[in-house]
Amino acid sequence: MKKILILGSTGSIGTNALELIRNNKDKYRVIGLSGNKNIELLEKQIKEFEPEYICVGSKEDKQILEKKYCNIKFYSGDFGLAEIAKEADYDIILTAVSGAIGIDATIEAIKREKRIALANKETMVSAGSYINRLLIKYKKAEIIPVDSEHSALFQSLQGFKKENIKRLIITASGGTFREKKVQELKEVSVEQALKHPNWSMGKKITVDSSTLVNKGLEIIEAHELFGISYDNIDVLVHPQSVVHSMIEYVDGSIISQMGVPDMKTPILYSFSYPEKEFNNSIKFTDFKKYSNLTFEEVDRETFKGIDLAYRAGRIGQTMPTVLNAANEIAVELFLNKKIKFLDIYAIIEKAMNEHKILNLDGEDALDIIKKVDSEIRNKVREEWGR
Ligand code: NDP
Ligand code: MG
Repeated sequence: MKKILILGSTGSIGTNALELIRNNKDKYRVIGLSGNKNIELLEKQIKEFEPEYICVGSKEDKQILEKKYCNIKFYSGDFGLAEIAKEADYDIILTAVSGAIGIDATIEAIKREKRIALANKETMVSAGSYINRLLIKYKKAEIIPVDSEHSALFQSLQGFKKENIKRLIITASGGTFREKKVQELKEVSVEQALKHPNWSMGKKITVDSSTLVNKGLEIIEAHELFGISYDNIDVLVHPQSVVHSMIEYVDGSIISQMGVPDMKTPILYSFSYPEKEFNNSIKFTDFKKYSNLTFEEVDRETFKGIDLAYRAGRIGQTMPTVLNAANEIAVELFLNKKIKFLDIYAIIEKAMNEHKILNLDGEDALDIIKKVDSEIRNKVREEWGR
């Protein structure tokens, strides 16, 4: 029986993970859950899965729930996410909160040498170099990517050597606004940006997919997870989202992982690895339904998210932290209709241009990351939040 702790259980990834577990209760037990504001759904999950540990966003909700569920240990707030990861008795932690808020919990899980099923890409973008250093120290800890592209790369690497990789090819659906030009993007609404053609996901990542900042974050995530140079990471638009990414090896062969666009497959693999496992909720692919699988160049001029990420990644040190923090607040402001769609790029670019890079090679790397992250968030909110 594998004991699973899910951070972000009320979200899109979290509920998909619970569906997989619901279908295989002999193999998996939910030991802990976390939600932020959706307490109604969290309570349903508590009743169904009977976890021992729960983290919620606010102290008030914690106090109310503590009175109702005497056998559960409760935590709250940002700090609570790290504490639950530090104290709960689990084999696998699924980090499916949205945003860099997931960093501390991931760090605690690494220190306990657990398996981290990592959906929370912002953690790898903002603090990837630090996390990789920790992974060297805590050798038994393992990160299994959940992000579909990275799961595909991870799967395409099984049985082969990293040294034999020529390049990683990350596929992109192209997002909601594929084929649109800058002029057409000026006035797009929040509602339009939230309509993704292939994937059903949380709001933040859906907006990131429309700007292609998501693909940018994934380039940095791939660099940090697989240690491949930015010169050898390419992006290719593939509107059908069937080929989830590919690895080209030095002998010219390309290995890819394919399937219908559904996050359950990568989530399940992060639990079952190195095994492949059947689950009733998995969808299978019928190639006859696809008359075409197409690939095209990404429009980097319109969708600046890609080049901003290559630039931040190549500069390294605190620059990816800046890119991520500026983007998180920009998306929040866009969702609250305080800024326009294209302002998201302007905000990230300005934050990066003004940032004085700090070195992350020392012992104080995590403190520096946190300080930069919080400074950028405050600055963007002050300048654009009005
Ligand atoms: P959702 O917005 O659907 O869910 C986010 C989860 O995090 C919810 O449980 C939410 O709680 C919780 N949460 C949000 N803010 C906080 C906070 N401040 N403190 C504590 N908990 C918080 O997001 P997704 O499931 O779509 O994405 C989760 C992560 O997985 C992201 O990092 C995303 O980039 C990544 N990912 C997602 C994919 C997808 O298909 N959805 C694909 C690949 C990666 P509540 O709802 O209760 O407020
Ligand atoms: Mg992805």
